[in-house]
Amino acid sequence: MSKAAAAARLVLAYLSWPLVFFSGLTGAYFAFASDTPMIAFVAVYAGAVSSLFLLERTIPYEERWLQPDGETANDIAHTVLTKGLVELAALAGVIFPMLAARLLQPVAAMQFSLWPSSWPMILQASLAVVIAEFGLYWAHRIAHERLFFWRFHALHHSVTRLWVINTGRFHVMDSLFKVALSQIPLYLLGAPLQVFWWLGAVTAFIGILTHCNVDMRTGVFDLVFSTPRLHRWHHSKDISEGNTNYGENIVLFDQIFGTYFNPDRPSSTDIGIKGQIAPDFVGQLTQPFTRDGVRQILGRQPKRG
Ligand SMILES: [Zn+2]
Ligand SMILES: [Zn+2]
Repeated sequence: MSKAAAAARLVLAYLSWPLVFFSGLTGAYFAFASDTPMIAFVAVYAGAVSSLFLLERTIPYEERWLQPDGETANDIAHTVLTKGLVELAALAGVIFPMLAARLLQPVAAMQFSLWPSSWPMILQASLAVVIAEFGLYWAHRIAHERLFFWRFHALHHSVTRLWVINTGRFHVMDSLFKVALSQIPLYLLGAPLQVFWWLGAVTAFIGILTHCNVDMRTGVFDLVFSTPRLHRWHHSKDISEGNTNYGENIVLFDQIFGTYFNPDRPSSTDIGIKGQIAPDFVGQLTQPFTRDGVRQILGRQPKRG
């Protein structure tokens, strides 16, 4: 590689995270102000996914992860089921939390009005990200530390490559648990609908960024946000590296509760789990509900007789 090409690559590596994140949020701002906020947001989101898809082919973190793993169709199917099924049917959007918020928020807000609705939206949205993160952090940590919940979360960790398309590979039960713990406090506080939109937007952009296979240099952002570098450690096969960095959007609670992990070396590319996940979509959905399925997920021998 020539010196100029190496320099250009480095500039791209430093710029790509803030560029995708902040231009995504700027796009969301205009989308939410438009007449068709959900459809406009989907267009902005698709733009961000496409940019990352191109960046993965320009400056990949791990060349090996560009190769197909046979899971692409399953990844997309889980994404559609957990995040978009209802919305696609209603042509209302792609983000499950946004729709849940739209349905439930007016009911809850009638009884409670503790939310600081007079604050500027950027402060209300930031507050919502912090409050939701407390639930997201514990839902995620419990999913790793309790076998009962790991049976659902293992699907997300069974991938052997990280790329923008497997961001939404979550078992539907895993997603519901996370949405419940993170959003119920906001309903109870009476947060307005716009706040849920912003929380959905932040989660959507951080999500595709944490999983993308782009050689991004995130520097100081690692101290605040869940970045690709931190999340690759979280996917490590080595439990001492993997049971860390539970933060979904921000890493505040990893820092408070002692699970923040960011050693000074390239983050792991040896990712995956010890157990076995069913190869097909329906099998992946039903596996956690059968005794032999759970044994496979945990990497134990099936019981005989
Ligand atoms: Zn996890
Ligand atoms: Zn992940």
